[in-house]
Amino acid sequence: MGLTLRQSLFRLLFFSIVVTAIVILINVWTATSKLVEGQLQERLLIASNVFERFQRERQSDLIRSATVLAADFGFKQAVATNDIPTINSALLNQSNRINADVMAIFDLQGVLQTSQPASAIDAQFPYPQLVDLALRGTVSQAIDIIDQQAFQMILLPVKAPTVKGALLIGFNIDSDYLSDVKAVIQADLISYEKDASGSPELLASTLAPSTASRILSKRGESLTWAEVTFSSDIPYVSRDLMLSTTKDNEIHLTIAADVTNQYRSFNYLQFSVITISVIAILVSLVITLLVSRRITQPLSSLIEGVKHIAAGDYGQSLDVSGKLQEIKHLGHAFATMQESIASREKHIRFQSEHDNLTNLFNRNYMKHAIDAKIASGAHIQVIGINLIGFRQINDLYGYQNGDECLKRLSERLTRWPGEAARLAGSNMYWVPDSPLDEIKLETLRFILEQPIETNGLSIPIRISLGVMDLPEDAADAEHLFRRMNIVKDEALSTKQWFVRYTSELEKRYLRRLDIVTELKRTLLQEKSDLSMVYQPKVNLKTNKVASLEALIRWNSSVLGFVPPDEFIPIAEQAGLIEAVTEYVMGQVIFDVSRIKKQGYDISVAINLSSQDIENTELITRFLDRLEFSGLTSADVELEMTESDFVADQSRALENLQSLRTSGFNVAIDDFGTGYSSLAYLKNLPVDTLKIDKSFVMNLAKNHDDQQIVNIVLQLAYSFNLKVVAEGVEDEIAMMLLREWGCNLAQGYFISRPLQYDALIDWFNTCDYF
Ligand code: C2E
Ligand code: CA
Ligand code: CA
Repeated sequence: MGLTLRQSLFRLLFFSIVVTAIVILINVWTATSKLVEGQLQERLLIASNVFERFQRERQSDLIRSATVLAADFGFKQAVATNDIPTINSALLNQSNRINADVMAIFDLQGVLQTSQPASAIDAQFPYPQLVDLALRGTVSQAIDIIDQQAFQMILLPVKAPTVKGALLIGFNIDSDYLSDVKAVIQADLISYEKDASGSPELLASTLAPSTASRILSKRGESLTWAEVTFSSDIPYVSRDLMLSTTKDNEIHLTIAADVTNQYRSFNYLQFSVITISVIAILVSLVITLLVSRRITQPLSSLIEGVKHIAAGDYGQSLDVSGKLQEIKHLGHAFATMQESIASREKHIRFQSEHDNLTNLFNRNYMKHAIDAKIASGAHIQVIGINLIGFRQINDLYGYQNGDECLKRLSERLTRWPGEAARLAGSNMYWVPDSPLDEIKLETLRFILEQPIETNGLSIPIRISLGVMDLPEDAADAEHLFRRMNIVKDEALSTKQWFVRYTSELEKRYLRRLDIVTELKRTLLQEKSDLSMVYQPKVNLKTNKVASLEALIRWNSSVLGFVPPDEFIPIAEQAGLIEAVTEYVMGQVIFDVSRIKKQGYDISVAINLSSQDIENTELITRFLDRLEFSGLTSADVELEMTESDFVADQSRALENLQSLRTSGFNVAIDDFGTGYSSLAYLKNLPVDTLKIDKSFVMNLAKNHDDQQIVNIVLQLAYSFNLKVVAEGVEDEIAMMLLREWGCNLAQGYFISRPLQYDALIDWFNTCDYF
């Protein structure tokens, strides 16, 4: 984590205040201590000068009074006569008068005669050279140690008139004396002795011995700031004077001045600076708080706002009320960003939910919307809308106009209350706000099917509607989409404009799916589940078998028996018919050859679907195989249903024509079930009509059928066409047909379709040869 703004601001202020305070204190200290030290040294110098003068004066006082004593006649006499009691009383007298601490008389041999007070001096006086000087008539003086005390001593001769002895007057430089001096010089005094080792030994002082020793140990050093500020001891500065030197020690005097007063103002100043610093730090803390609040509060609220944006919540308005320009700018920048993100997201969301071309919703949206509605427990109707032949519209009018159709269709649809989506191509879904009944659906269709006027064109529109009710027909959107495709396929394949979803529809669809899958599989197998059966056609004039019709059988290992009526149309739709026909052709060529080898010279009719007849390659292959097997067009007939011709494919007609020319017999199958105009027959390249079995099966009883068959027979006669009646199930029908001049009959009455082996057996046993 980095520092917060508040922390870093405070740090900055804190350090600058502390540094400033320290610099001030250092400067003040150096200035103060220099000043104070200078002043004190001057004071001490004065003090030492005063002391020295005092000392000198006292010395000359002493010498004067000693001289007076030495000149006293009685005294001289007493010394000359060695009158010890008199000497003692004179010494006592004099010492009281001049305040001497010790007085003594030495004889001419330098031997101590007497001293006052008695035994103040050892018999062995330590400074005999001083005594010698005096005995030689000189006055000498010295400061020296006697019994661990410093004494100022004066030695002078006692003359009567010649030198008779030496007089010693000594003054103890003790604390009392120092106190007297202190009163004069206004400074404390410490006397000490320094021996050869250099360490001072305290002799006397006006201060407590501990203080005195402290001062001695620090003499010559200057005071430190810490001592002045923190030490509990009183700080002193000192100056050292040497009083005397003897052969093995020195006697010093230190003058010490208490500097508390001098430094008091510094301490006060120091205290003030620190106090001011602390106050400044507190103030800076407050300033920091205020400043950072000014900055951080709007920043924090901006950050909060930006977090909302990051979370995808664009509804929050950003707080841009800060007082600082920069923050305001930042806030405005964020607000702008928020707006543009929001609008971009809106755009993206629109795109993600809508179809680009029509602006209807897209599959994704529809899926979620429908799932949500179902989840909420609502019952809804979903209408699948398809533009029939949309591909052809694109091919015919161009993609731009195709798109235009979709757009117009969408516009028409969105005028109805509900939600509409386009999934792909012309596949649209519409969820009306309230379900539509069939009358309303008719209206919807009518409106949607209005021709579309665009670019000067009027494009006719046909639509199919698939209707599903949710959740009954589908539990979720995925099911809906899948099932609606089934509904759409059903509408397309049955050519109905309106199909409602049923479970049968789906069953059928799944059945178709199974059939397609299985058929594909078996067609790829070497040994398929497919086989051929043959049904004879009998010439009614001769009562002999004239030809056979080849019929396919599929006994699927998975689906069981699947009738050709069921799987052939599916194979046609699934594009599998070519493979089926290929199989049939191969098998028929094989069986025809076998039959011929058995000695029966009969042709076999193959059923072709319209796709086969358009398939030139297939027909070419068939002709090649036929030739390869040594067969001719006389051995194979072709049957095609009436509806296959109605489609009027020129290619089919061409192929058929060329087959006819090659000598193939071509029949129109299921005649009577289609809608071809009779006049149309004239131009068809066929030579046979095959009356549909529905007219023949009940021929014996049904007068309508009889009339129809009659009409067909007359028609065929006038067009010079042969007629085959299929579905002959009884003798009466057979008889009637023969009577009316029908050429051939086929049906269960003669024989059921038979497998090759059964067929040969039948050939061998029947009466039709
Ligand atoms: P289709 O070409 O009209 O064939 C005649 C159908 O009538 C055959 O049914 C035959 O078994 C049946 N049938 C014949 N005599 C009678 C009768 O006396 N009474 C009754 N009720 N029915 C009779 P199948 O074999 O089930 O074939 C049905 C349809 O399947 C055929 O109708 C044909 O359109 C198609 N088909 C059969 N085999 C093939 C084939 O190999 N290729 C093609 N493309 N279609 C085939
Ligand atoms: Ca047929
Ligand atoms: Ca038929």
